Amino acid sequence: MPEQRKPILVMGIFALDLAFRTHKLPAWGETVVGSSLATAPGGKGTNQAIAAARLGAETYFLSKIGMDAFGHIAEAAYREAGVRTDFLRRDPHAATGAAAILLDDASGENAIVVSPGSASALTTAEIDAAHEAIARSACFLTQCELPLPLVRHALGLARSLGVPTVLNPAPAVAGAESLLPLCDFVTPNEHEAQALTGLPVSTLAEAEAAADVLLARGARHAILTLGARGAYVKSATLKQHIPAFDAGPVVDTTGAGDAFNAGFAAALAEGMGVIRAARFGCAVAGIAVTRPGTSPSMPRRHEVEALLA
Ligand code: ADP
Repeated sequence: MPEQRKPILVMGIFALDLAFRTHKLPAWGETVVGSSLATAPGGKGTNQAIAAARLGAETYFLSKIGMDAFGHIAEAAYREAGVRTDFLRRDPHAATGAAAILLDDASGENAIVVSPGSASALTTAEIDAAHEAIARSACFLTQCELPLPLVRHALGLARSLGVPTVLNPAPAVAGAESLLPLCDFVTPNEHEAQALTGLPVSTLAEAEAAADVLLARGARHAILTLGARGAYVKSATLKQHIPAFDAGPVVDTTGAGDAFNAGFAAALAEGMGVIRAARFGCAVAGIAVTRPGTSPSMPRRHEVEALLA
C-alpha cells in the first residue's frame, strides 16, 4: 500500500530570468547592444518548488506575483510542473519579479540584478493565512530572496506548528545568521557558509568547523553543499561527508543548490532520514548539473532512482 505522504510548502520568489549575452558590461550611463537573449522562469524558491514537484512531491508555493505578462509566465510554469498555487497571491499594483543576468560572451561569467518585485509585497497576514497548509506539511522550505522579516515570520510560524524548517540561506545577505535558531536544517553553499560564519570553507575540515558554528548559533542540522565535492552534514548526533554524484559531463551548475534543496525536502517528505535525504539531494543536483538551464535541468523521479540504484 502506498504510504500517505505529506506535502512540502515552499516560500520564495518568482523572477523571470532575462539572460543577456554581451561582449562587455555597460558602465553607468552607457548602452551596449547584446548578442542574444534567453528567458526562463527563475527565482530560487520557484526553481526549488518546480524541482520538488517534478520529483513527485505534492508541492505548494507561497508567494505573490503581479497581474502582468511575467505573472502569466509564472502561472504557466507552476501549472506545467504541477506546483499547487493555492497560496500564490496576485498583486494588481506591483510588477512581477525579474532578474537581469548579464553573461560575458568570452568568459561565461555573469553579473546579476534580481528584483523580487511583487513578492516583496507579500504580508505576514498572507503567510499566516497558509498556516493550516503549513501545519499539514512534511517540511517548510524557504530562502533569503524575500525580505528577512518575512522569512523570519514564516520560519517562526512553521516552528510554532511543529513543522521542520529548511532554510537555504541564499543569496548571502546581511542578517541571515539571526535566522539560525529557527532552522531545523540550514543549507548554505561554501560562499554562504563563509558569509554566515566568517570562516573560510574550502576543505572538509573547514566545512566541519563552519558547521559547528552554525550549530552553536542555533541551527539543529548544518548541511553544507560543497559543489563538486558533494555535501557535509553535521548535527549533535550526525557527522558525514556525502560525495557528489557523477551523472555525466558537467555542462551548467546554475541551480545546483536549488536542485539539492528540492531533493532534500522531497526526500524528507517521504520519511527518509537526514543522511539519506542529503544523498538524494546530491543525486538530484548531480543530474541537474549535466544539463543546461535551471528549472529545465531538474530531473524526474525515475532518473534519480536510476542514479541511486
Ligand atoms: P550552489 O548552486 O548553491 O552554489 P553547490 O555548488 O554547492 O550549490 O552545489 C549544490 C550541490 O550540487 C552539491 O552539493 C552537489 O551535490 C551538486 N553539484 C554541484 N556541482 C557539481 C559537480 N560539478 N558535479 C556533481 N555534482 C555537483
